[in-house]
Amino acid sequence: MVSSEYERRIAGRFATFDQDGNGYISREDFAAAAKALLTEFDTPARSDKGQALYTGAEAFWQGMAGMADRDGDQRITREEFVGGAVKRLRDNPERFGEIARPFLHAALAVAGADADGAAAVEDTVRVLTCLGVPGQAARAVAAALDADTDGRVLETDVVPAFARYFTVPE
Ligand code: CA
Ligand code: CA
Repeated sequence: MVSSEYERRIAGRFATFDQDGNGYISREDFAAAAKALLTEFDTPARSDKGQALYTGAEAFWQGMAGMADRDGDQRITREEFVGGAVKRLRDNPERFGEIARPFLHAALAVAGADADGAAAVEDTVRVLTCLGVPGQAARAVAAALDADTDGRVLETDVVPAFARYFTVPE
């Protein structure tokens, strides 16, 4: 079995997706991430933003399952994640951005992004932290995105950065 440093790091990302820590990634983990975001930003689930977030979470889950759930049991095991998702994400990081985009768009809206999709750096850090990105990495990602240091980051930058975090770990 070939086990590169890259694959070991990607395996570490598995834990980020497995929000409830039960050893596999499922729809419930994505719902849990949505719930955590709504709690963090004190947003009702029944609001338009709350519903958009759950819709985005479901689409994100479906996209991930399509890439990685090889036996179709609605669970992505660690083995499926490392063996299937890693290769596909590495070959096509744009695809990952695509499936994550509706969820991230909704998450930034919950975090108070304006009509142009620009959110405050601090709120972006809170979003990334809710999604399981460790605090220090979340701050580094958000700070790097605010290249002109005006305190705002753009959704168009957040999506590829999020994809990079999961596909090309530092
Ligand atoms: Ca889980
Ligand atoms: Ca499976």
